[in-house]
Amino acid sequence: MAAVCGRALLAPLGGRLRACPRAPIRPLTSAAPLYDVVVSGGGMVGSAMAAALGHDIHFHDKKIALLEAGPRKEYCLPESYSNRVSSISPGSATLLSSFGAWDHVVSLRCKPFRRMQVWDACSEAIITFEKDDLDDMGYIVENDVIMSALTKQLDAVADRVEVFYGSRAVGYTWPLPSHSSDTSPWVQIELADGRRLQTKLLIGADGHNSVVRKEAEIQNIEHQYDQSAVVATLHLSEATDNNVAWQRFLPTGPIALLPLSDTTSSLVWSTSHEHASKLLTMDKESFVDSINSAFWSNVNHSDFIDAAGAMFRSALSLLKPSGTAVRQLPPSVAEVDPESRAVFPLGMGHAAQYVRHRVALIGDAAHRVHPLAGQGVNLGFGDIACLAHHLSAAAFNGQDLGSLKHLLRFETERQRHNVSLIAAIDLLKRLYSTSLSPLVLLRTWGLQATNALPPIKEQIMAFASK
Ligand SMILES: Cc1cc2nc3c(=O)[nH]c(=O)nc-3n(C[C@H](O)[C@H](O)[C@H](O)COP(=O)(O)OP(=O)(O)OC[C@H]3O[C@@H](n4cnc5c(N)ncnc54)[C@H](O)[C@@H]3O)c2cc1C
Repeated sequence: MAAVCGRALLAPLGGRLRACPRAPIRPLTSAAPLYDVVVSGGGMVGSAMAAALGHDIHFHDKKIALLEAGPRKEYCLPESYSNRVSSISPGSATLLSSFGAWDHVVSLRCKPFRRMQVWDACSEAIITFEKDDLDDMGYIVENDVIMSALTKQLDAVADRVEVFYGSRAVGYTWPLPSHSSDTSPWVQIELADGRRLQTKLLIGADGHNSVVRKEAEIQNIEHQYDQSAVVATLHLSEATDNNVAWQRFLPTGPIALLPLSDTTSSLVWSTSHEHASKLLTMDKESFVDSINSAFWSNVNHSDFIDAAGAMFRSALSLLKPSGTAVRQLPPSVAEVDPESRAVFPLGMGHAAQYVRHRVALIGDAAHRVHPLAGQGVNLGFGDIACLAHHLSAAAFNGQDLGSLKHLLRFETERQRHNVSLIAAIDLLKRLYSTSLSPLVLLRTWGLQATNALPPIKEQIMAFASK
């Protein structure tokens, strides 16, 4: 019989145990197959989670299922670059290497970058990050390339991980933490086509509109930003080493140029919804002109801020002559790939809890951030490294995978890391969305001071490269 979860019965058990099924409970047929782990959502994060567990030696006798609403995509490397790319941190590359996916990424295509330059359109303030050694700061990779690498690694463990494409989960029935003989101890999953599965642990990786999160009644703190991101594939005026990631904060939002090859870069331009729709529909020449002017124009500068910034900069250089950055000029853009322009609404979200009894949330299902720091999928990959570590230890020790004991350790570790980063990204978005002089001055001095303090920059780099 399905787990019967009465609200009144559960109320005294505390917040974490209050999740009740919203979907009508139907009798569970004995044929519903039981999995040790079901991952719901096969985007970059869910697929990587399933592949990481499938390749884990302590999971050799476990049954894993991955549910993906969309179809399986066969990938052959097209000549033109996709407009959907991600800046991948060294920590994420290490995670993907741990189960063999990074080798595929490198053999397909990815562009390492060695330097990052971020500057304000309302002042001369600038911050640069670069590696002293020959290490890469990160990699710009097409999302399709990551998905193709993950699909290959899932195929390699097809005996342990069953992937159900075209399979949308529509309802979940949660077990009671201490079940009686007439209730099921497992999470029951209903698919849109009527099939059912059961699992000892459900991992929700179903994106920022997560059905798992909603059905588990986990509170999500969220808001929509007043911005959309316009993405496009761009051709540069001339070939360069193109190993710098550029970002300029305009009063309307940040514009980023991310390297893909010596002559190609990817655009992520966050701006007001109205401006985004204009950028999407304007002719190609005007679009390219708008990008070049967004990177080069000083129309938002004021004499007062420039003078105050210059004074502060010279004071800093007296204190710390070596700490100031060499400003480089971004490349100019010559052309936009036809059909590559697209727009995405932006928002932030954070789940108050990442775990419940037999449930864990990862990736955008647990947290959604503005793309200005290029951290969204990296946070998701960080969740995987942490959760896979705790589940592997639990499997090795023969413990119940769905037990809150190790799930709570995952939640504590990840929330400690994610909450501060999400708050910092949200603060940056707000601080840079204004051209009010006092705030411009404040952020100008803040950026100049940070840039002049290598230990702080190193800490920021270390945190962002996880
Ligand atoms: C413009 C832009 C630029 C970005 N740039 C960067 C960057 O440079 N670096 C970075 O780290 N991040 C970046 N991000 C963020 C990054 O794209 C996301 O964080 C990441 O894609 C989230 O992956 P996910 O797998 O958690 O969720 P999703 O990509 O949303 O995947 C969820 C999957 O679940 C499936 N699904 C949903 N519901 C169900 C269901 N009920 N049953 C079965 N399957 C279901 C969906 O079909 C989908 O495949 C950017 C985002 C944007 C918008």
